[in-house]
Amino acid sequence: MRWGLIGASSIAANHMIGAIRGAGGEIASVHSSSPARAETYAAEQGIPFGTSDLDALLAQDDLDAVYISTTNEKHFAQAMAAIAAGKHVLCEKPLAMTVADAVTMVRAAEAAGLVFGTNHHLRNAGSHIAIRDAVRAGRIGDVLSVRVFHAVYLPPFLQGWRIDNPAAGGGVIPDIVVHDADTVRFHLGEDPVDVVAIDGASGMGQGVEDSCMSVWSMPSGAMVMAHESFTHAYAESGFELHGTKGSIVARNVMTQRPVGQITIKTEAGTETLPFADHNLYIRSLDQFHAAIKGDGRPSADGIDGIKSLAVAAAVAKAAKTGQRTGVDYGGV
Ligand code: NDP
Repeated sequence: MRWGLIGASSIAANHMIGAIRGAGGEIASVHSSSPARAETYAAEQGIPFGTSDLDALLAQDDLDAVYISTTNEKHFAQAMAAIAAGKHVLCEKPLAMTVADAVTMVRAAEAAGLVFGTNHHLRNAGSHIAIRDAVRAGRIGDVLSVRVFHAVYLPPFLQGWRIDNPAAGGGVIPDIVVHDADTVRFHLGEDPVDVVAIDGASGMGQGVEDSCMSVWSMPSGAMVMAHESFTHAYAESGFELHGTKGSIVARNVMTQRPVGQITIKTEAGTETLPFADHNLYIRSLDQFHAAIKGDGRPSADGIDGIKSLAVAAAVAKAAKTGQRTGVDYGGV
């Protein structure tokens, strides 16, 4: 499987280049908006072709797929160009700046018969798969509530556009609420109906929110509370589900690494839930490669990306208006 990278980004350098290669893929090219950066990045990463000409990258006819990891406002146009060139697309979250654009991207890929994936890593974690399996097996009965603790400290090397550039899609809501929405949907198998939210700047955000708390209602009646932040240097992340027959409490599982601890508490007592420790991103790539070969679907597909963005958009709107806000999934 031959890949082109659109975006000379940190996530590609730190996780995805290794994951593509780890899943047996080959990286043929990289695009950056800067010619010098394209060249340097390609040399540093051992990629044969670096270019600032997107058409030149997409014209490589032996390229199967592109991975888009530019800043968020660029995803839409780059995905549409890749789809027009007949490439399968794995796109970073949030898929686009608006739900309508995300729907257009995903529908265009469908119409062209191309695989479209959203790079939501958490549903690929052994921890979250073990939690989802326990919930599905009925171990905690009917889920009454979910608590998501995803207040972290944004490392200095990422304190750029995320904290001061709303036009590039900065802010903790587009950055982290999308992941939490995807993870809740993964566990409960249903989509949030409406939300209330408060956001704020707690020391890092300049013109964008760096913290958010929200509550979501689910069709089953379950309630979800979610906390995201860039400014919490000492908080552990966590994910809890509380049901009629038990509770699952997971710590340090809202992360890019295969770590954490999970306990399940029922009438029978408290036990540790074991889970696999594979690389999250390689699993995502394995599923994407299989989907291109006609075997299954990406672990998070385009519809999943639209829905996580829709929840984040509703949270942003609810925080701005102070109103309970219905989630508009753009007709999907
Ligand atoms: P970066 O800021 O590292 O990269 C984004 C863009 O910024 C790059 O495409 C590049 O533009 C430019 N850039 C990066 N570094 C430099 C530099 N040193 N000098 C000049 N320009 C630079 O962002 P991230 O990698 O953190 O995020 C990229 C995307 O990936 C976002 O959509 C984000 O939401 C997503 N993401 C997803 C994660 C996940 O686990 N699924 C985790 C982290 C991010 P150009 O390509 O034009 O050179």
